[in-house]
Amino acid sequence: MSRPAIAHIRLDAFRRNYRVAKQTHGGKALAVIKANAYGHGAVRCAQAIEHEADGFAVACLEEALQLRQAGIKNPILLLEGFFEANELPEIVNSNLWIVVHALWQVDILLATKLKKPIQIWLKMDSGMHRVGLSSIEYPLAFMRLSGHINVEKIVCMSHFANADNLQSEHTSQQIALFQNALQNLSIEAISLSNSAAILGWPQSYKNWSRPGIMLYGADPLFDTKTQLRAVMQLTSQIISIRPIKKGESIGYGSIFTAPRATIVGVVAIGYADGCPRSASPQNGIGAPVAVNGIITNIIGRVSMDMLFVDLTDIADATIGSQVELWGDTILANDVAKAAGTIAYELFCNVKRVQFKYSDN
Ligand SMILES: *Cc1c(COP(=O)(O)O)cnc(C)c1O
Repeated sequence: MSRPAIAHIRLDAFRRNYRVAKQTHGGKALAVIKANAYGHGAVRCAQAIEHEADGFAVACLEEALQLRQAGIKNPILLLEGFFEANELPEIVNSNLWIVVHALWQVDILLATKLKKPIQIWLKMDSGMHRVGLSSIEYPLAFMRLSGHINVEKIVCMSHFANADNLQSEHTSQQIALFQNALQNLSIEAISLSNSAAILGWPQSYKNWSRPGIMLYGADPLFDTKTQLRAVMQLTSQIISIRPIKKGESIGYGSIFTAPRATIVGVVAIGYADGCPRSASPQNGIGAPVAVNGIITNIIGRVSMDMLFVDLTDIADATIGSQVELWGDTILANDVAKAAGTIAYELFCNVKRVQFKYSDN
């Protein structure tokens, strides 16, 4: 017997979501599997779609090499490019594509002798103001790189700050600024759309999309009729049941005081596994969970290895009953909302639990 906290990763759902992303956008799709595939396991996720994926995107060289060492042959884009010039030989050897987001990277790229040219995704800051060349710097950098012996091809890219807000005008403004700056350049390909843009902004559709969160089944637009399927189901079991009287309290800080006679279930999962402490009740009510498929809530403070759920209205709950933290009955988006975060962060933080992969 072992601790029953398990992340079930359904690779068939991941594959299906990739197809939804690719078909919705209509062009090629780089599956974004940075940060260990948002906590789902990068190698396993990559292998699940290697025969159909147009490419993968990761944050850095180390993440890409892990995929190459596992035998992944598809194109792989480094979303932050290189951090130091000494990464370039390995980038060339491993046949990786790089984002170029700053002038210092352009300078190094043009000053270094490479064995083979590299495919470049030249990134413009069209309004997010995180990384990327300004719309003023961009055309000149493009012309310096274009046709250079170290440059195989240039894909023009940018990233949206507010694509998950369909009411915001920011996305259209970013697209307009981007297209304006490209006007007099002989461009080969463009990539703008992240998941939210694939689902909400057809104006952003160009040659390449870059879906991330939607591949894992969390809809960034919170569409309740989404076709996406949850890839991760995070579960554990009830390991203790105790009735408490009205007025008694439970857990660290005694933040929950029973308003009525209450059956308290203790679940073997906690914040060290990635169920955030902020999923504890903030103003009375904690994040939703499902016990034997029936929705109830976290009560008391989430601790490192355990948390409490309210079993008062779940008659058949026993020791060993399955508790779903998120997955099929409980949307990660809903837990994230209750915990003041986003599904991305919930997924990335899952650790210590057993990972069980299935592919049906
Ligand atoms: C992470 C990332 C994506 C994927 O974003 P999602 O919101 O998860 O779809 C796309 N493009 C870039 C540049 C990224 O950093």
